[in-house]
Parts: sequence; structure tokens; C-alpha cells
Amino acid sequence: MIPQKMNIFWFRRDLRFHDNAGFFQALNQPVPVLPVFIFDKDILDQLEDKHDRRVVFIHQAIHSLQQQMVSKGSSLKVYYGKPLDIFERLSQDFDINCVYTNHDYEPYALQRDRGITEFLQAKGISFQSFKDQVIFEKNEVMKDDGTPYTVFTPYSKKWKARLNESSLASYDTNSLSHNLYQQLPQPIPALEEMGFHLMTLDFPASIVEDDIVRNYKAQRDFPAIKGTSKLSVHLRFGTISIRELARHVMHLSEPFLNELIWREFYQMILWNFPKVGAGQAFKPVYDFIEWRNNEAEFDKWCQGQTGYPIVDAGMRELNATGFMHNRVRMVVASFLCKHLLIDWRWGEAYFAEKLLDFDLASNNGGWQWAAGSGCDAAPYFRIFNPRLQTEKFDKDLAYIRKWVPEFQEFSYPAPIVDHDMARKRCLEVYSKAVQLKL
Ligand code: FAD
Repeated sequence: MIPQKMNIFWFRRDLRFHDNAGFFQALNQPVPVLPVFIFDKDILDQLEDKHDRRVVFIHQAIHSLQQQMVSKGSSLKVYYGKPLDIFERLSQDFDINCVYTNHDYEPYALQRDRGITEFLQAKGISFQSFKDQVIFEKNEVMKDDGTPYTVFTPYSKKWKARLNESSLASYDTNSLSHNLYQQLPQPIPALEEMGFHLMTLDFPASIVEDDIVRNYKAQRDFPAIKGTSKLSVHLRFGTISIRELARHVMHLSEPFLNELIWREFYQMILWNFPKVGAGQAFKPVYDFIEWRNNEAEFDKWCQGQTGYPIVDAGMRELNATGFMHNRVRMVVASFLCKHLLIDWRWGEAYFAEKLLDFDLASNNGGWQWAAGSGCDAAPYFRIFNPRLQTEKFDKDLAYIRKWVPEFQEFSYPAPIVDHDMARKRCLEVYSKAVQLKL
């Protein structure tokens, strides 16, 4: 064991050096900080497709974090294994005073952190966690009567009213970097060692042009235009700071800031209503819908072979890139739940497997919004018409042509379902469930 007392900072979904709340708190102590990252075997083993873009993204982010650590004379210690086993090893190799990290609010992470806290406590080591990935968390933005909001607009008003300079202040980790434990560069496990394939991928940049933000309101709904930031993957893994982003955009575009607040709204919902993360509808009657759950139709939806070009374009974009434009996410999700009457949880799971920016709270929020079962969701009788959505948001068919070039050819499938019939069927099935009084 290295005799020197040490604090550990454990990176998770905050993969950046600068403006990192928990990392700052660790560096601000009079004890050297050993930065650690764990490729969590419990999570990686669940991923069936070993060409997973997210693992490649994380791997790249760890390499660039490592460069920054090395430039300060330190190094990340990167492990591959089960977190509890790794902490057991760390506690044998180092004289640990305290483990610092940032909050992760997902159910798996909460359970994992409880186990780690107990393990460390038994060894006399404390575990300290900080808010970092959101501006307001848990129950910081509540109604006047102390209960959580379930409607976005009043939540967002209260969120904005609470905002002040200190909520957006940066944590100056650079000024404390002399407190990093000095060591030679340590190896990073290769993707192949963890059973994943190395892929050359073009990930979205971690900065957004001011013009995109300024024109956001007018351009955000058109999937053929570069009208959104594509920052979601960076927000997901913390390769950008939410505080810096909010500070930057808040005077450029209120609609853009509102989207960042939607992200926090869904995180707040997951925290206060954990049942949504456990597969339950936010509005219980929606669990009584008699889904058709036709597997062959689901398969066609997944493959982008429904015969509805806007739906197929979205699904093919997702399959090919791990990204889908928000407008199209709404259209394909509505189509699955309402036109095909397939349980939104099937779609949620498919997105979870494929999305580069997959985030439990936002994904669940988006799916329950589309299915009508969520808080502040689209009313169940609002059924997107794919043809009208195309006329409004892809009228030159540029997006469709890009992803479904054969859409006017004989080889392209006929619509899997007739729109008018599907609409009527959906209203019947939904209204039967929704009329139930619980
Ligand atoms: P921009 O339009 O540039 O928005 C900026 C940021 O605001 C985004 O990066 C994101 O962090 C946040 N944001 C924007 N719209 C939303 C929204 N509706 N809800 C929550 N946050 C939002 N977003 C995810 O990050 N992960 C998911 O797993 C996810 N699943 C979704 C599933 C469905 C069915 C739907 C309808 C939406 C989902 N979204 C999800 C929300 C949204 O589609 C993406 O955040 C957005 O498309 C990402 O692109 P962007 O970074 O260019 O967004």
C-alpha cells in the first residue's frame, strides 16, 4: 500500500476536467487527489451489441481526460470491473481518506452508490457526492406547497425565478490542479479487452455555434436543417458543463434554455416519481391500454420499413448514426404507440439500446409524452399524422430523400397500416382505458 493519505475522485457521467463540482471539492482539500474511472462491467455486460457507440464515446472522452491529467503531472487510474471489486482493490492499494464523486440519479446508480457507501463506511472511509449534471436537482424547484411540479410551464417559471449567479458559477478546478496525486501515466484498457469493437465515428462537436442558438426557435423543428445543437451526448456524459452552457445560451435564446429546463424537469420527475423508471405509466390508467404488440410490425418499425417515409427516415437515421432529430423522435414514437398500438416500453427499450444520448429520464419522459401516459403529455387524442408532419417539417423531402432514397420506387413497402383506420382504432382503445376510474 502507498503510505500517503489520499482522496479519490470517481468520474462517472461528468467526463471533464474543467468546471466539475465534485472534482473541485476533492481538489479543495489538503490531501492529494487520485482521479479514477471505472468501465463498469455490470453496465457493459448488459449491452448486447458490442459495436456500441456510447462505449466508444466514453473511451475517447477518457483518453482526452487522461491527456489533461498527464499535462498536470498526474494520471487517471482506469479500471474495468465491478465497482465494488474495484473499490476493494483501491482500498488495499491506497490509504484512502475520502471518495468524492458527483450525483447520478438513475435507479441503478443509486443502488450501486448505496453499496459502495456501505463498503467504504465499514472501512472508515467517507463517500461524498455533489450536484453537477443539472442546475437544479431533486426537490430544489418545488411548488409553494412543497410538492413536485408535474406540469412543465409553472416548473420552468419557478426554475428561472430561482436562477442566480451562484447557480451558474463555474468550479475552477484548474487553479487547484497542483493537488492532483503526481504519478506516471497509467494505461487505459483497450475497447477490445472489454469485448467491444473499435470504430471510427464522427461524434458531434462539444460546442454550438451562436447562430444555431439564435435561430433555434425558427429552425429547431426541421430535421433536414442543422438547426439544433447536437449537444445531447455531451450533456449525457458530462463532456460539457451544464452551467457553462446555460450561461452561454440564456441571453441568446429563451426557447433553447427551455429545452435545457425540460431535461431537468424529466430528471426531477424521475427523482420524485421513481415508478416511471421502473416501467410504470405516470398516469396509472394508461397501464390498462390493450396494446396489440404485434412483433412483426414492431420489427418493421425498428428497421425503418413501415411504408411511412418520415417514420422510416427517423428509424434509419437512428440505426445508422445513434441520433434522431427531436421532431422525428416525436413522430416515430407516436406512430408506434398510436398507429401500431405497441406498448411505449418496447420503443423506449429500443431507443435505450440505440441512442448515443440515451438518458433514462429524458427517454422515459419523451416516450410517456408521446404515448400520452406521462406528466404534461400530449393528450391521447392528439395523433400525429405522418403525412401532415412531413408537409410541415420536411416539405422539400430533403430529410426523407437522405434516409429513404427509394421511397418513390416499387421496392418501397406499402404503408403497414392505413392512417384513418389506425387513428380510429387508437381512439377506441385509448378511450376505453382512459375512461377507467381508478
Ligand atoms: P437541442 O434541440 O439542441 O436541445 C439542447 C439540449 O436540450 C439537448 O441536447 C437536450 O439535452 C435538451 N433537450 C432538448 N429537447 C429535450 C426534450 N424534449 N427533453 C429533454 N431534454 C431535451 N434526449 C436525451 O438527451 N436522451 C434521450 O434518451 C432522449 N430520448 C427521447 C425520446 C423521445 C421519444 C423523445 C420524443 C425525445 C427524447 N429526447 C431525449 C429529447 C430530445 O429529442 C433530444 O434531447 C434532442 O433531440 C437532442 O438533440 P440536440 O442535442 O440537438 O437538442
